[in-house]
Amino acid sequence: MALGKLFIVSTPIGNLSDITFRAVETLKSIDIIACEDTRNTKILCEKYDILTPLMSYHKFSEAQKTAVLLDRLKAGESAALVSDAGTPLISDPGVKLVESAREAGINIIPVVGACAVTALLSSIPRQDESFKFIGFLPRVEVQIVNLVKANRGENLVFYESPNRLMETLLAISKTRKGRKIAIGRELTKKFEEIKVDTVENLIEYYKNNVLKGEIACMLYALEDFDSGNDDISDKIKVLKGLKLSDKDIAGVINSLYGLPRNKIKEILLAGKQESK
Ligand code: SAM
Repeated sequence: MALGKLFIVSTPIGNLSDITFRAVETLKSIDIIACEDTRNTKILCEKYDILTPLMSYHKFSEAQKTAVLLDRLKAGESAALVSDAGTPLISDPGVKLVESAREAGINIIPVVGACAVTALLSSIPRQDESFKFIGFLPRVEVQIVNLVKANRGENLVFYESPNRLMETLLAISKTRKGRKIAIGRELTKKFEEIKVDTVENLIEYYKNNVLKGEIACMLYALEDFDSGNDDISDKIKVLKGLKLSDKDIAGVINSLYGLPRNKIKEILLAGKQESK
């Protein structure tokens, strides 16, 4: 008996027309659609006359439903995985199913389409190609600050909820003033809004404008980022915290990074002036 195929099918992120012909044909032609919330996927299926049976597959049932789906795939049936919106496995369930299906030798076929990350990135200016997607940001302020600082040289892409965006922007503004950010709200929907500005300006903007709906963001990499010097500045702060003298700090940094002592003294001096 030949093994079935597993299709990973992207669905719209808001605008129900954003689905490919291939996705619709695939969803019509298979034996079962595994979806996060059958009520959501039913709306899509009704719009496109998809009669394939649905089964729920969400983060709380991943382990159990993976086993069920795997049995059906091994028995020669074909299945699709969809999420409530966009591309499965992108901040959505499915990793376990894909992993197990691969191990079982099942053919996994992506049927591409909408994703909030690519929708945002395709509609904002960017100074370079690279970006780092981190899913949802942590909720604790100190964790946001540390994560943002640790990734200051990256275009950092993340998802955020409207209830948390303001706090997140305030936390980011503590790491460095004037950082540029792109915020895509309600992408592909009626009230779509894409803003590109400094974090501080957008804090002011959202104080006076609607802040609800779904949100994807890109915090721009710091253009004047110099990883070497930034790392050194962080190390110097730690050493100062240990109450080491400037001379000792210069000695440690010199042996760690090979940076000339006069350059280290400049950094120490700049730090003193900044903290005045
Ligand atoms: N798998 C989805 C994808 O491909 O984009 C993401 C799923 S994740 C659970 C849901 C989050 O994606 C939302 O909370 C929001 O941050 C972001 N998102 C989804 N749809 C969006 C939209 N239309 N506009 C902006 N962000 C969106």
